[in-house]
Amino acid sequence: MTNYRAMIKDKKRIVIKIGSSSLQHKETGDLDYIKMEVLVRELCNLRNQGKDVVLVTSGAIAAGKKAVHIKAEENSIAVKQACSAIGQARLMMTYEKLFSEYNQVSAQVLMTKNTIVDDLNRFNAHNTFSELLKLGVIPIVNENDTVATYEIEIGDNDTLSAIVASLIDADLLLLLSDIDGLFTDNPRENKNAEFISVVPKLTDEIMDMGKATTGSLVGTGGMNTKLIAAQIATSAGADMIIANSKDVRIIHRIMDGREIGTLFQANKDENFYLKDFVTSLHND
Ligand code: GLU
Repeated sequence: MTNYRAMIKDKKRIVIKIGSSSLQHKETGDLDYIKMEVLVRELCNLRNQGKDVVLVTSGAIAAGKKAVHIKAEENSIAVKQACSAIGQARLMMTYEKLFSEYNQVSAQVLMTKNTIVDDLNRFNAHNTFSELLKLGVIPIVNENDTVATYEIEIGDNDTLSAIVASLIDADLLLLLSDIDGLFTDNPRENKNAEFISVVPKLTDEIMDMGKATTGSLVGTGGMNTKLIAAQIATSAGADMIIANSKDVRIIHRIMDGREIGTLFQANKDENFYLKDFVTSLHND
């Protein structure tokens, strides 16, 4: 049997998602520049290997709240929208600065549900990504939270990153989170919860393990959204790995083929249509 993990080395188009709680200092909520620096260095190194790299980053709303001294718990729609407008620019300013230290050009792409549901929008978004990647640019993606109200929001960046992976035909989606991967139960509550290192196929039993396990105030994704992301990514033909962002150098260790995190193996489903899947989000 071929070693599936060793094949991770050969991935050509990689989407990496990092959550808000991974980008901030827990004590203050301010951006962790050292962590962001290491993240950017890892991404540039992948780019230098000739791979296409896309970063999906949260943290805009959290950074905006920080800038105007609004409590992390304050979650009214207007406040979140305003704070995302403030924070997205700040977040990009930091990324731009770090990427330029490695002589790497980055770009901002903000999306909503409509970007996928509307045929012309989806076509344009696909073309934009293709062109950016052809130019060797690293697109930095977030939801357009400033305008994304309930009807048009995707809602969390786990799902958004899988949508992006599907849209651009990525072969790997890497979700960096505050958890090591998938467990049979919530490891923070159940000491007997067992770690699952590989999921060859997404069964109902696996989907049922999607309990909210992040326990953080700043992000929106729990294990549930990660499993929905796995459904999208694997059906679209990409492998997906969930791994802990505590040390972001984990990226090159994973790319070396080491057994880290939970690997969901791609299971391309010819009947999977991104537009239909996204249309059905929040419709129940
Ligand atoms: N788009 C949100 C932000 O940038 C975060 C969504 C998420 O954490 O999943 O703040």
